[in-house]
Amino acid sequence: MRATIRKVLVGTAALAVVASTAATVDTIGAPGVGDPFFPLAGNGGIDVSDYGLDLAYDPTTRGLQGTATLQVLATQDLSRFDLDLRGFRVGTVTVNGDRASVRRNGQELVITASRTIRKGSAFTVVVPYDGVPQTVVDPDGTSEGWVYTDDGAVVVGEPQGAPGWYPANDTPRDKATYTVRMTVPRGVTAVGNGFLLSRSTSGGRTTFTWRENYPMATYLTTITLGRFDVSTGRTASGIPVYLAVDPRQRSAASSVMGKLPAMVSFLENMYGPYPFETVGGIVDNAPALGYSLETQTKPVFNVAPDEATLLHELSHMWFGDAVTLRTWPDIWLNEGFATWSEWIWAERQGGPSAGQRFRELAATPAGDSSFWNPPPGDPGAPADLFDRTIYDRGAMTLEALRERIGHRRFITVMGRWYAEHRYGNVSTREFIALAEEVSGQDLGVFFSAWLYQPGKPGGLAGGAAAATPTTGRR
Ligand SMILES: [Zn+2]
Repeated sequence: MRATIRKVLVGTAALAVVASTAATVDTIGAPGVGDPFFPLAGNGGIDVSDYGLDLAYDPTTRGLQGTATLQVLATQDLSRFDLDLRGFRVGTVTVNGDRASVRRNGQELVITASRTIRKGSAFTVVVPYDGVPQTVVDPDGTSEGWVYTDDGAVVVGEPQGAPGWYPANDTPRDKATYTVRMTVPRGVTAVGNGFLLSRSTSGGRTTFTWRENYPMATYLTTITLGRFDVSTGRTASGIPVYLAVDPRQRSAASSVMGKLPAMVSFLENMYGPYPFETVGGIVDNAPALGYSLETQTKPVFNVAPDEATLLHELSHMWFGDAVTLRTWPDIWLNEGFATWSEWIWAERQGGPSAGQRFRELAATPAGDSSFWNPPPGDPGAPADLFDRTIYDRGAMTLEALRERIGHRRFITVMGRWYAEHRYGNVSTREFIALAEEVSGQDLGVFFSAWLYQPGKPGGLAGGAAAATPTTGRR
């Protein structure tokens, strides 16, 4: 949508009020934004510009105590609005300093302000809360949100884990900046997105303050806790690097994590400048997680990653984190792009070419229904968001496009996709339109076959079995 930062900190809230009128349907924010897979995720009538999370965690009791301060813009008149929050006891909520009434309804935290908030005004919501975080279980059975480890927690949010640790407008369409202050027992390191603003210890407890100045979707937030070795550096383009590695993963991680700066340079040359102010990673020892995730500026790894996994998660900084899907069924815009990025990296490192990878996979027989289905543009159900076909057939779609329109035009498409949409949200329809514009071709039939029609796209030869499945990363 736009190539500029979409939001800035709203600052001290200004409130416009209307004479006290009874709440009407017109002034009630919807409980969800109508995502086809997660209809109650996100909320109508609000646009959060900044989250200030002041948190303390005790690994012994597993108690999380927090105060969330949200700077919000009203996108309609609001007598009532929702946030998303899973579990926790909630204290006295205020809106612009005035006590609001609150009730819970499943994942909805329903807030009724003492006065109607006018469309277009900025306001401040403060939510005190505490309790033992409950790990969120996804439709595909995997864990997210606050996932316990033996030395703390690994915190991830795709697609709906953020409300497992703070009150959020949990939709990828509502990006915001964040300040996260986390107080933990001395010896525990808290790693968040963006910059480490400060770190101070007193009375046996250490407070870490992290700041992300760039727009971030809720599903990309983290505050991962545990025992970590921290190292810092810079990429060739001068981006500060912050790496946190669980000491038990240190030897397995050291050589691959050493490639991070070169990978960032590679991706910058391929797609355009790195989108954020900091880069790095969190290598945890988290068997309960079972996958890696592209948390913004610092992807989280459940174990020391292999080279392909590191490249995959870093490429999501461009495709996923900076350029973000608008609805979850468009997940191939994240995963197909990250998988194709793995292929082109391997090709340029002297490994098999992207074309070879494509042909190996294309040889998968049409009868191998689980390889070819669901089609990547139409996963069908939330449990299939991270099916193998989203990754492999998604990347094959891009490689097929590259072979059809030529490498130069293809790279123009990828670079413009990033430049024109970074910090915003996108849909598959917009990608198809861009590819058609750059190539001057009508690609409707091509994309329909690759993205939307079940089964093996026509015109591909059958033959040998497919290559090893891709698992364990998002
Ligand atoms: Zn991924």
